[in-house]
Amino acid sequence: MVQAAFINPLSEDGKQIVRELGSLDMVSTTNEELIDVINHTKSQEISSEIPQNYLDLALKRMEWHLTRKNKNFNYKEYSFLMNKNITPFDVIAFYLLCQAIAIKFGPNSRESRVMVESEGELIESRLGELAGWERKEVVTLVLNSLISYSSIKWTFFKDLLSSKKLNLQDLILDKGRIILNKEEFLDHFGDRIKHRDPEKMFELVIGDKVKELIVTGMVMQNTENYMQLVYEKSRREIEPNPVLLELADKVSKLLSESARNYSYGGGFATDVKASPLNPLAFPPCVKKVLEGMKSGGRNDAIILFLTPFISYARLYPGVFAENVTKRVSDVDPHLNAVQNEILPMISGAAERCTPPLFEDQPQEKVNINAKMGFGMHDTLELKNEGETLWYTPMSCEKVKIHLPSLCKPDKTCKSIGNPLSYYNRVKRELKNSKDSRIDQRDESSSKN
Ligand code: SF4
Repeated sequence: MVQAAFINPLSEDGKQIVRELGSLDMVSTTNEELIDVINHTKSQEISSEIPQNYLDLALKRMEWHLTRKNKNFNYKEYSFLMNKNITPFDVIAFYLLCQAIAIKFGPNSRESRVMVESEGELIESRLGELAGWERKEVVTLVLNSLISYSSIKWTFFKDLLSSKKLNLQDLILDKGRIILNKEEFLDHFGDRIKHRDPEKMFELVIGDKVKELIVTGMVMQNTENYMQLVYEKSRREIEPNPVLLELADKVSKLLSESARNYSYGGGFATDVKASPLNPLAFPPCVKKVLEGMKSGGRNDAIILFLTPFISYARLYPGVFAENVTKRVSDVDPHLNAVQNEILPMISGAAERCTPPLFEDQPQEKVNINAKMGFGMHDTLELKNEGETLWYTPMSCEKVKIHLPSLCKPDKTCKSIGNPLSYYNRVKRELKNSKDSRIDQRDESSSKN
């Protein structure tokens, strides 16, 4: 039988596993039982990379999530994560990760978000690997421990719905109540379904799919809530355990490496890599705003047009090619480029406007932070990230409609649809011509 903790480490049996471990003294000691489970996992690739202790396992768990969508991902390296016998070790690894991340980075950090996402993906993958009957059994077991079937109102899921871990359209409602089991469905809708078999309709519209979505969403939400609790508790207590701080640093390093080497969320990074801004490659519209707006459209030009352009051009120029939503901190974890390059360039342009934007309307700084995803706050801080969306750069079409005075197309503009594509193309051309000049110089110096 599959333990509930395999899917929900925060379940009662999961908590019992943690109680049995007691202290953190042994988490970095070689664990023969863990190694034995891994060695006996079907299709597991055995190498020196397999986890030797709880801390290794925690990092492997995170590494699986960060790399699994990359082209060269080797699933055989991580097969043990899908083995139900890993449960007692995996639960400890889960708690270590949650505590380390919450204490060191807080519940609103990029690390916390990735932890919650990884938990959701692990649940989906594990359910996908189980036999049909086991999958049904464990989902029912976990769901029963999370909610009471009798009369669940959709408002019960308000946190899941607002954080988009669950969509209202996935649920079947009757007078605000969520219908989850077959008997209830037949009771409520049996008479109303004509010309179709009501039981087949139940399988089609609800079946086990909705239950799995709810289980996944609730475990993710509870993981988030748990990290919030750990964080609050850690503020009141003495020094955190150094083992946890060390683990947190290693997780952060993994995330930074993943952002640098891969496009986190899928595939290798495209050839459009983040690098310092090259103003020579800016399109005419951007150059015009950087000189300072002298007439109408000042606020929109700085906030809606320039801010997304400069931030994406610097941090995520391949956004349209990769088509993966990211946050600023996924690509600039400590906000160094934001503070030292992006904001100064935007502020410089704002200052050159007539009248200068921030002297005239200082409250507009809040909107710049908001357009980069950091909520409506006076200062740009990591803890507020995610409260708003990181706006993508306006298309040429939108610029022409909303800020027509900016668009003075040159010949490159004829073949592009977005100022960011203009920037990437000209930057590539400038780099190619510089490389060919260096090649020519090397060639002629070798002849001499
Ligand atoms: S065509 Fe596009 S890139 Fe060129 S100036 Fe107009 S808005 Fe800018």
